[in-house]
Amino acid sequence: MIPMPAKKKVPTKATAPKSVTKPAVVKKEKEEDGEQKSGKTFDLLRGFRDILSDDQGRWNLIRDTVRSMAEAYSFDRIELPILERSELFNRTIGKGTDIVEKEMYTFTDPSNRSVSLRPEATASAARAYISHGMLDRPQPVKMWYTGPMFRHDRPQAGRYRQFYQAGFESFGVNEPIVDAQLIVIGYQILRELGLDVKVQINSIGTTECRQAYLAELVAYFRQHRNKLSDEDKRRLQKNPLRILDSKEEVTRELLEGAPQILDWLDDKSKEHFMKVLEFLEEVEVPFVLNPYLVRGLDYYTHTVFEFVLADDEGAKAQVALGGGGRYDGLVELLGGRPETPGCGFALGIERISRALEAKGINPPERPQPQVFFAQLGDAARRIGLQLFEDFRQAKIPVAEAFGKNALKAQLDVANKLGVQFTLILGQKEVLDETIIIRDMESGAQEIVDVKKVVGLVKKKLRHEEGVDPIMQSPVEVA
Ligand code: AMP
Repeated sequence: MIPMPAKKKVPTKATAPKSVTKPAVVKKEKEEDGEQKSGKTFDLLRGFRDILSDDQGRWNLIRDTVRSMAEAYSFDRIELPILERSELFNRTIGKGTDIVEKEMYTFTDPSNRSVSLRPEATASAARAYISHGMLDRPQPVKMWYTGPMFRHDRPQAGRYRQFYQAGFESFGVNEPIVDAQLIVIGYQILRELGLDVKVQINSIGTTECRQAYLAELVAYFRQHRNKLSDEDKRRLQKNPLRILDSKEEVTRELLEGAPQILDWLDDKSKEHFMKVLEFLEEVEVPFVLNPYLVRGLDYYTHTVFEFVLADDEGAKAQVALGGGGRYDGLVELLGGRPETPGCGFALGIERISRALEAKGINPPERPQPQVFFAQLGDAARRIGLQLFEDFRQAKIPVAEAFGKNALKAQLDVANKLGVQFTLILGQKEVLDETIIIRDMESGAQEIVDVKKVVGLVKKKLRHEEGVDPIMQSPVEVA
């Protein structure tokens, strides 16, 4: 039995998570968000970026790992729209939250409706659960998704205005094992990727027990009102739980003496939370109780959690790789059946990719071609076009340098690429319907029937590598 966390278990000042307060890029926001500078080329909007092939290997790895985990745990893929009615987010994420108050890309569409680019996808998943009558399916209904989210946040290292998440949601069952299993899934995804992570966890109970706690929290902060920033004063008045998300140094220090929500949980909430912790202990998922963790969205109830790098523990600015929690009131809030439970989490793909990069994990975007095609003249190029297709169908990637004419220049490229074989098609070979296979390591060349070259190369690759080249075909991306 795990005892309910007492104050001694609370992270110390050094370990208490603190949000990043200073942006890495210190420039005047107005300047950077300003108009396109005059000129013929276009700047990226601030906080938006192109994800180039340098990153794609890691992104593929993350998405493949997420997908295989989703399949192993029987989650069904769902594609959700990027644009939704603004009210969906206002009502669920909550009016007093930073996301709704400051960060949503909201505009009026041509039909005069207020719409928003999704800042997260849980509300959309709950909407989909209701609108497709998923209540009538065997519960829990488990969904996963991946895609871009949009928040007009202050860009800094690892924080963008368009960022990508992979999320898992489970609707219809309120058993603590569901919370624990979701945490295990997120933890194992990150572990499988090679990251050493810890789970920060807390319970914020039900709306009812939170009321009593909030009264106490407000009373505590009222005593220190003169030390609070205007923003935190406003939070205290409008949505006091949000003061726990405050990034202000003074507020964070005050929080250390503030009442903790765990002490206000009712018996049922306590029992639920303790069971979640027991399950986590059982499967040896390392967790740290964090009484300040409330997450920046209003729909959460009971368990809330975040995944952080284990070696970030104690760092001033802990960066969450993902987070989630239980949201038992969400479906009802959207007009669905009262008391429909739910729980889920989302991982931030950019943050995970950065963590992998910092560890030197940098897989190639696609398999390195082992074969290069060198051509001399247009007739050879014509045959080459068909040959490429034949190799593709045999799932053997082939490189080329169509922009170069001289054989030497093409062989230089082949050497740089480190291919094992170069196929050389000159005028004589075109006439003879043959092709040269050059072994790049030994320099040995062999003239073969062009119609048989695909099969021969396949055999040679198998022989050299001791593996089937088909296995090296690009892995399909989630
Ligand atoms: P949240 O539900 O807001 O905690 O988001 C879940 C995860 O998405 C976070 O733990 C981050 O990894 C990632 N994330 C959230 N906001 C951003 C952002 N602005 N830029 C990059 N990643 C983000």
